Amino acid sequence: MIRKILIANRGEIAVRIIRACAEAGITSAAIYADADRHALHVKKADEAYNIGPESVAGYLNAHRIVNLAVATGCDALHPGYGFLSENPLLAEICERRNVRYIGPGADVIRSMGDKIQARRLMQEADVPVVPGSEGNLGGIDEALMIADEIGYPVMLKATSGGGGRGIRRCDSSAELQNNYNRVLSEATKAFGRAEIFLEKCIVNPRHIEVQILADTHGNIVHLFERDCSIQRRHQKLVEIAPSPQLDDTTRAWLGNLAVRAAQAAGYTNAGTVEFLMDRDGQFYFMEMNTRLQVEHTITEAITGIDIVQEQIRIAGGETLGFRQDEIQRRGYAIEFRINAEDPKNDFLPSFGRITRYFAPGGPGVRTDGAIYTGYPIPPYYDSMCAKLTVWALNWEEMLNRADRALKDIGVYGVKTTIPYYQEILKVADFRHGRFDTGFVEQHPELTNYTASRPNRELSAVIAASLAAHMGM
Ligand code: ADP
Ligand code: ADP
Ligand code: MG
Repeated sequence: MIRKILIANRGEIAVRIIRACAEAGITSAAIYADADRHALHVKKADEAYNIGPESVAGYLNAHRIVNLAVATGCDALHPGYGFLSENPLLAEICERRNVRYIGPGADVIRSMGDKIQARRLMQEADVPVVPGSEGNLGGIDEALMIADEIGYPVMLKATSGGGGRGIRRCDSSAELQNNYNRVLSEATKAFGRAEIFLEKCIVNPRHIEVQILADTHGNIVHLFERDCSIQRRHQKLVEIAPSPQLDDTTRAWLGNLAVRAAQAAGYTNAGTVEFLMDRDGQFYFMEMNTRLQVEHTITEAITGIDIVQEQIRIAGGETLGFRQDEIQRRGYAIEFRINAEDPKNDFLPSFGRITRYFAPGGPGVRTDGAIYTGYPIPPYYDSMCAKLTVWALNWEEMLNRADRALKDIGVYGVKTTIPYYQEILKVADFRHGRFDTGFVEQHPELTNYTASRPNRELSAVIAASLAAHMGM
């Protein structure tokens, strides 16, 4: 039985995990750097521990964090996403110190975190992978040779990459030569390893990923797929479950393929198998994320399964409470990442104080946020400050509800991606469920909205307070 969980993260995902703890009767312990003194997760957790002045490095110090977990009597640790969530060292230290790590074993994290190893494992299990180099590239000459074999365009990728960084498309040998050292240095700077590889570029693919759950008793199920094709700079902006671009036969086939991939990896806990689908409907394994994902909320919406609760149960040694054929799927769900960014300025971060915040409500609407009125968004972290998840029984109603919720949500004081998402909802192809990873680039006109938009909640609140003031 898990009684107390240390949450080795911050922001909306820490708040999400605190909620799961509260529902399960588990004590939550938060950590916070000085820069996060005013953060919501600190206020919401049962206990909160300061980890000092280093705003980012503090959340990356595995030894210190596990020491804190032990010292404060935590019997488990949840890594969230980002930070140490894909660092095998954290899982290892937890194992050694008798703190249950809420995620897969360190070996699986290590092998799946290395995209070359992951590709090899998948090939052995007959899961199709994107054609590419067998191993890490030894130099530009080898890269040029392999690219000639598989044909341009190709993708240069950091072997330990994540978060969309260390990925560059090369359309010719000249571009490959130009980009080689750039990607190599990005890989070294961002991930500490000078290892890169090369893959065929699938032109305008769909990003389709499958959520899986695996207990420690050999049971593995999938919770259907998510379509994450709406991206900028290889990072997801909007995600949809299930994908409107798959039929039920393909859906079932892909789900089973992901289960096989997880089996081959010796996977336990929650994870995601990411695939690219090309224009002919062929699927290629891309990578496996060995952690909770940002967009897990849309899967929760269509299945009714609380993925974080399942993660905790699995880490506690429980058997999955359902078989594949008992998992039901209903309706469509969409998630919008509310980023403090200016879409008009190439999605440049826009940090600052939130002067007013309204969370939308109503049926089928969920917000996962780390913000409140008066909150100063610190400039040291990710620009995503909230997520809006909308569910409805069918596609059309989901679009209408999403539009309504985007009009209801209000985040003021910083620029956000909200008005940009309202524009996406107007695009005919999008409304027809047709889009690929080139969508954002193909639609530069989406940033032509007028910056100040009326907000229904805001006008309602102002009208109401005026009326009260005037005694009406
Ligand atoms: P998801 O994979 O959950 O859909 P992202 O790819 O956007 O979402 O990653 C979630 C967060 O984790 C982002 O803040 C991203 O920058 C960060 N992140 C993801 N992978 C890594 C990594 N390998 N190293 C550092 N940060 C990462
Ligand atoms: P990360 O670990 O940063 O999430 P991924 O390997 O998952 O990196 O790739 C991120 C995104 O980059 C994908 O969703 C896709 O849009 C694009 N991408 C990656 N590999 C390819 C490829 N071989 N062909 C086309 N697009 C790709
Ligand atoms: Mg990925």
